[in-house]
Amino acid sequence: MSPTDCSELVDMDHAATTALCDESIAAMEPFLMGTDLTGRGRGRYGNPSGSHALARDAVRALDEAREQVATVLGCEPGEVVFTSGGTEADNHAVTGGMPPRRGTPVCSAVEHPAVLRPTQALGGATVAVDRFGRVDLTALAETVRTIGDGHTGGSYTGGSYTGGSYTENSRAPGVSVVSVMTANNELGTINDISAVAEVVRRHAPGVPLHTDAVQAAPWLDLRSVACEADLVSVSAHKLGGPKGTGALVVRRPHTLAPLLHGGGQERDRRGGTHNVAGIVGFAAALIAAARRRPVSVERIGALRDSLAQRLVALDGVTETIDRRKAPTLPGHCHLLVRGVVGEELLLLLEQRGVCASAASSCASGAIGASHVLEAIGVVDPDVAPVRLTLGADSTPAEVDRAVETFTVSLDRVRSLSRRGAVGGAR
Ligand code: PLP
Repeated sequence: MSPTDCSELVDMDHAATTALCDESIAAMEPFLMGTDLTGRGRGRYGNPSGSHALARDAVRALDEAREQVATVLGCEPGEVVFTSGGTEADNHAVTGGMPPRRGTPVCSAVEHPAVLRPTQALGGATVAVDRFGRVDLTALAETVRTIGDGHTGGSYTGGSYTGGSYTENSRAPGVSVVSVMTANNELGTINDISAVAEVVRRHAPGVPLHTDAVQAAPWLDLRSVACEADLVSVSAHKLGGPKGTGALVVRRPHTLAPLLHGGGQERDRRGGTHNVAGIVGFAAALIAAARRRPVSVERIGALRDSLAQRLVALDGVTETIDRRKAPTLPGHCHLLVRGVVGEELLLLLEQRGVCASAASSCASGAIGASHVLEAIGVVDPDVAPVRLTLGADSTPAEVDRAVETFTVSLDRVRSLSRRGAVGGAR
């Protein structure tokens, strides 16, 4: 099969992105090509920052979307800041906006680069994780205490942004923010955010807790799982909405300076004309994902279990996480495959129509070393990581195809490497 013949492709990389769901498409359609207020078919295109009828039409849509997002995320509508997706929400939460909050950001060692890189850029600290990828609570307590103690005022409680200017609190800055993801994008491991919140409350009182819930949002009810976090990031394209939209929940009394300064949109927390169609499509996808969740979690969890069970029966294949010991998202199956080069196995899988991932590729598509695997102590160069992730619409037939294809591809890549012909494994 030619790699361009996409009708035959089986998507086992839903954690990277998902297709638009029907509800999201239907919700966006009036804004992209429906009839506008003048009766012409050019979409409801008003700019919600204006004050006339076209603008008010867009404001109504935005208000409704904000209510829907708040309902699913378990916050007040005024606590939702629409963003361009997970990366912006994470950067905003970690930095506190522009200028950045004073103090030292702290995050777990396995965060997505959208958290890790701003944390590093601000000279922050990373905290070790256990062998399943969950943050080590003792190490977290130790880290925030040490940083707090290094400054005379103890934990820093931030500043406030009002009317276009930012006022720092007078106390010396300690920890500026703690960021621990709800679920890891590579492994699918779920953190206990309420236990993390307890540590922050006890050892760094007043410091905001951020959780990146981008991977968790399609599968977990964030109203109970992330309710103790002050800042929560979500992204539309991971749950059936459009790319380039998402939200950061900023729970009161926390405030942020804008990351993007502009026209004062989003109550002065995010400048820039709203992506009205995208936001409406995001809200519709979030509602649809929440409605389907009870059924999809059970169905996809069972399919994933079957996939994993059949693949670990192959020689040299193990699951990276013992799921009896640490809960993972239902769609994630992360494997370690002995005696193959990861890129070669992934290439053969793709040539036979199965899209999977090593989960640590960079923007160019090249596979890099995974900071997540390193953090959990998987550093064996003879072992290749492969991530297969199911989506809410994945089917038993797709799982069967994935298992058959994985089996033949693994045989083939091993026999080619025995003959020294790898690289010609096309
Ligand atoms: N955080 C996590 C855990 C992710 O998996 C991703 C995307 O892969 C992001 C953040 C970035 O989100 P976005 O693609 O919307 O910028």
